[in-house]
Amino acid sequence: MRLILLGPPGSGKGTQAQRLVQRHGIVQLSTGEMLRAAVAAQTPIGIKAQDIMASGGLVPDEIVVGIISERLDQPDATKGFILDGFPRTVPQAVALDELLKKKHIRLDAVIELRVNESALLQRVENRVAEMRARGEDVRIDDTPEVLTRRLASYRSQTEPLIHYYSERRKLLTVDGMMTIEAVTREINRILAAIGAAEQTKAANKAATKASAKRSAKVPQKASAGRGAKATAEKAVKFAARGAATSRKTTKAPGKVGKTASRSNKKPARKTAAGSGARAVGKARKAAKKVTKRRAKR
Ligand code: ADP
Repeated sequence: MRLILLGPPGSGKGTQAQRLVQRHGIVQLSTGEMLRAAVAAQTPIGIKAQDIMASGGLVPDEIVVGIISERLDQPDATKGFILDGFPRTVPQAVALDELLKKKHIRLDAVIELRVNESALLQRVENRVAEMRARGEDVRIDDTPEVLTRRLASYRSQTEPLIHYYSERRKLLTVDGMMTIEAVTREINRILAAIGAAEQTKAANKAATKASAKRSAKVPQKASAGRGAKATAEKAVKFAARGAATSRKTTKAPGKVGKTASRSNKKPARKTAAGSGARAVGKARKAAKKVTKRRAKR
């Protein structure tokens, strides 16, 4: 699973990323954390970044792109990753697209956590209070003044990425104002739907390959086709389960419904329910194709 989490400071990216790490055994790549480590170690990058970070500005694109490129090459990132805090500008997103292409890595989805700006200051204040209570060091950029600057740079530099990924059909929006648990459930539902669609694609590919093999051979053998059909059918069942729960969420009143209707204003945006339904559609088509192919024989 290869994901990007997108959202303003305090939207819950870090919390959700940690949960995804535990559930899926993938790594969290947080440029903020990496930069804070570089500052603590006073590496050349850390020295360059520290004043920019303290004031709430953005570190130059080439620095963060370089850090991410190196990090993606490490063995623990091969199983999957969650990018948290990167990309943060359109040039960073373009650079990431190029990097991924070069490294033959496919991005599965970009998950946007949508929150009301008015709640963010309170959230960050709570985080600071909790860190103090645990005796942890508080981030020097977690003050109301710097947060205002961080929010301003999010709005002007990072928010355009919503359009960027929506145009590329990668964006899925989750209502970040729900409870932590509910946000996690919603993200997991999205990931299940994506997984189902991938499975269908694979089953479809296998079925096509098997039928090509069969048509090359006379007399024909049906066993490969039967196996591929079973896989496609399994994918349909799996996707249907995901879509059923997605539909339930969309119908339910309240915040999830709000996200869905907001997303409807921008047709390019996918919702959890939409991707579930699409996954079912694709899976059904795949199963039909296999059945047709078998009937022809
Ligand atoms: P936030 O909670 O504000 O999202 P992060 O921990 O992700 O904060 O990042 C902290 C700071 O590190 C940012 O305000 C910025 O100065 C720097 N930073 C992190 N990631 C990037 C990036 N991709 N591009 C530029 N600067 C970054």
